This record gives sequence, structure tokens and C-alpha cells, in this order.
Amino acid sequence: MSEPANKLGIIFFPAYDWAIDATHPEREERLLYTQDQLREEGVFDLPGVREYKPEIAKPAAIERTHFCFPSVAAVTTESHLIAAGGAIKAAQLVMEGEVSKAFAMVRPPGHHAMKVVHGNRGFCNINNEAVMIEFIREQYGQKKIAIVDTDCHHGDGTQDIYWHDPNTLFISLHQDGRTLYPGSGFIHERGGPNAVGRTINIPLPPQTSDAGFLTVIDEVVLPILEDFKPDLIINSAGQDNHYSDPITNMNFSAQGYARLNEKLNPDIAVLEGGYAIQGALPYVNLGIVLAMAGTDYSHVREPGYNPEQLRQSPQIDNYIKNLCRDIMTSYRQSHQTTGRDGQFDARHKSIYYDTDGISEEQTEKVMVCSSCAGLLLIESQAAANQRCLGIEIPVDACRRCREAGLRRLDEAKNAMRYQIIKLINRVDREYLTLTGEELSPRSKYFF
Ligand SMILES: [Zn+2]
Ligand SMILES: [Zn+2]
Ligand SMILES: [Zn+2]
Repeated sequence: MSEPANKLGIIFFPAYDWAIDATHPEREERLLYTQDQLREEGVFDLPGVREYKPEIAKPAAIERTHFCFPSVAAVTTESHLIAAGGAIKAAQLVMEGEVSKAFAMVRPPGHHAMKVVHGNRGFCNINNEAVMIEFIREQYGQKKIAIVDTDCHHGDGTQDIYWHDPNTLFISLHQDGRTLYPGSGFIHERGGPNAVGRTINIPLPPQTSDAGFLTVIDEVVLPILEDFKPDLIINSAGQDNHYSDPITNMNFSAQGYARLNEKLNPDIAVLEGGYAIQGALPYVNLGIVLAMAGTDYSHVREPGYNPEQLRQSPQIDNYIKNLCRDIMTSYRQSHQTTGRDGQFDARHKSIYYDTDGISEEQTEKVMVCSSCAGLLLIESQAAANQRCLGIEIPVDACRRCREAGLRRLDEAKNAMRYQIIKLINRVDREYLTLTGEELSPRSKYFF
């Protein structure tokens, strides 16, 4: 093997004691086979490649990222805090210059966890990448960050969290939502009024092969990254586009994933899905690790790989070419703030937590603002947590949005309408949960 060009940190956390159930595809063997494969290949004997232990994410790291109702403790286990802490460790290593790149191979995954959390959806409770990014911003200042989600499923949770943030570019490549969970991620989903064009969705047809993925990277992802000029590139690295994955319908290979990673050149990768746990995941992860280390990956082959059988049809070639052109046209027309400065823009969302069987109704309002990401207000109702309010004063909020948020908190405390109020105040680093008597003093006579 050639001398690696990069110093690479790898963080493993298989989460032995967390599973949805014993036979569920999202289980600890996902990482155990990968760990064996990397050891067998002598990855840790390469100069510059080192394994590190995860941190445990502190409750404040979750509180600054999510509105967890009723509390962080109620919707997470220690395994969730260590998976997020593994991503935090990756960020610390890179930000402190200990390594040039890091890959957090952790589970449970996170990219379906949205801004509000009442429980588990799509195997996710908290969003590991978002917790990591907000940790970076708290410790190292506001950064322009790009997240490229290469999981086969639309990263709807990450999209939701960064929908209004003009300083976070979210790009998701995924199997078309008309054919796969969670059913979202269409090209017209482009970001909220303060961040139009900061969400990019690339829905790909079933049976897309290496050629299709790499076309999308060249024609859409790299030009948009070039235009956005992020300080950091994060890869939300789901390996379930593999042709042998049992829960999806794509034809991506280990070589394709390694090549994609080489082109994308992310600073940090965080593992998401990938459910062909023995025949594909160890090889895909190995290919990515070698590409991140900047060394030769050409020998990496999953068992039974036959590129001829996986070649995509000319119809798919054409479809993807047109899709790339449409996305770039729409991207060039976006960017401006839409709506009237200082007015609220509202949207209604119905969210289903498929793993936990919870239905949630949300009204989300954001203040249209040309100077910051805008004050965010979310009213949320689910069976277990009725009448919740989340107020977020974003990182680098302007004076108007900060003051409007604090005023809204006072009004809400006295309104006798809410059972739980949460405040994320990033400007003053204040995270509050108000319940019961902390709300209106009169409320106890009414509830
Ligand atoms: Zn994706
Ligand atoms: Zn997935
Ligand atoms: Zn503002």
C-alpha cells in the first residue's frame, strides 16, 4: 500500500446494548464486521491512521440542537449520547488539528431525527451530525458548513434542522422518495425563506449505478460546493446504496463509494445507514477509509462484484443528466431571501415517528430576516406531549430576532396555553425547559 497522504482519525462505537429488536437490520454487527475488516487489512498499521475513543455528548449539546419533548433523558439512552459523542470527538480531532480527517463509525444513526424530537423515527432519535455541527459552532465560532448526505434514504431530519440556516448547505443524494422511505426529498424542497437554495435534493431512480452517482457529484455537488465555499465538508455517510443492501434498490459498489469520497474530499464523515452488514458494509467502509487516508483503494472488492451486471440503463443515464441540469438551473435562480423582512413565515408539518408509532402535528414559524437565520417558533403536539412550544434564537441572531424571541418567551409563559416550553438561545447560551408551575402561576388551577 502507498504512503497515506492524510492523517485520519477513526472512532468506533458499535453500541452493544442498544437495538430496536434482536433481528432488526440496524444492529451492532454492522460495525463489528467493519472493525474486523479494517484490522485484517492492516489499516491501523498505516502511518497516520489512528483509532480514538468517543466522547459522551453532554445534555447541553443535545439541548442546543433539538427540542426534545419532554426531555433529553426521555428520548435518548447512553448509547445515543455516545454515538453523538463519537461525532463530537471527530470534530474535536479535526478542529484541533490532531488529524486532517476523521470518520465516526457510530450507531445508532441520526439523519432522520428532526428539530423536534418526541421519539424514534427511521432508527434515529438524535441527529449526530447536527449535534456535532452545533458543538463546532459553540466551541470554534460560526462556520459555513456543508453536509453532503450520501445515504440511500433522504436525510429529512438534517434537512428539517437546517431548513432556515443560510450558513449550512445541505445536499442529499437518495433513492427517489416515490420509491423509498421517508418519501421526501424532491427538487422543489430548497430551503426556507431565509435560506433558499441552501437545501439541495437529488432524488435518484432505483438501480442507479456508480456512473450515475459520480455524474451527480461532478455535475451538481462539486459545482455547488465550489460556489458555497464551506469552511468544512461533512459527509453523512450512509452505505445503503450498495447493490446488495436488503432494504433499498440501488446499484452502488465499494469502488464507487471510495471514488465518491475521494472526489467529495470531506473533512469529517459520520456513518449513517448500510444494512448488508457482512457482504458489503465492511468493504464499503474500508474503501472510504482508504480514500480518506489518501491511499490506494483499487484492490477493495466486495464478494460477488460484477460491474457488467450493475451497469445502469441508457434511460437512467438520460434521466440523471436531465435531473442534474434541472437542479443547477433551479440553484442559479435561488439565493435571495423571500418574503417581507420582520414578518413570520409559517408552515404546517405532520410527522410520523414510524419506529415508535407517534404522530405529531407542528406549526413552524420563522421570522423572515436578511441579517440572521431568523427567530424560530415551533408549536408541537403529540399524544404524549400535548401543547409544546419551542423557541430558538439562532447562532449569530440579530438584535431584533433575539429580542423578539425573549419577548415571545415571556408572553408564552403567561399564556396558559403550553404544557412544556423550551428555549434555545444560542446568543446567550441559555437552554431552558419550563413546565408546570414555572409556567403561569394560575395554570395549576386549569390543568
Ligand atoms: Zn441521502
Ligand atoms: Zn439509509
Ligand atoms: Zn434576524
